[in-house]
Amino acid sequence: MHIRTLTRGLAAALVVTFPLAGGQALAAPAEPAGAAARVVTYDASGAAEFRSAVDRGAAIWNESVDAVELRPVAAGQRANVRVLADNGWPRALPTSLGNGTVYIGRQAVNQGYNTVRISSHELGHILGLPDRKPGPCSSLMSGSSAGTACTNPYPDAAERAEVEGNFGGALTAKPAPVPRGTVIVD
Ligand SMILES: [Zn+2]
Repeated sequence: MHIRTLTRGLAAALVVTFPLAGGQALAAPAEPAGAAARVVTYDASGAAEFRSAVDRGAAIWNESVDAVELRPVAAGQRANVRVLADNGWPRALPTSLGNGTVYIGRQAVNQGYNTVRISSHELGHILGLPDRKPGPCSSLMSGSSAGTACTNPYPDAAERAEVEGNFGGALTAKPAPVPRGTVIVD
């Protein structure tokens, strides 16, 4: 159907073009089934030995939610998310929903924490999730409180739903739960 195809293309263009802060304008058009996810690009070129873990963490989010897609940034483009390796504790600095910097800190890796869980946890902060500590290993945002034996890199059902809401629900101007411009350690 030509009209349906046109509508879907238009909706996808609007999602990509408008900043989330002006999202009220997007409330009017009905979301077609299978609407395009918001793309959040990331640059893991500074993630050193953790690069593949970061790619895996991003892939886990892509498997887990529909409303947002983490995609490696194209060469020469500026990414929404920079991922860096350093010698500190893992942390995230979200600047706005889907934007910020992640540090994969070797201090936790050296203590035995799983690099893929660290990566998906820190990306979870960029996707608007706060820490939930202490918490069980089944929770991604329980972070280090689940111990070094915990290697689960997957968000639980509540965490998945929260991210879906942050991105789908952001179009209805839902306030983000994570403070902006503040480093979240762990
Ligand atoms: Zn954290």
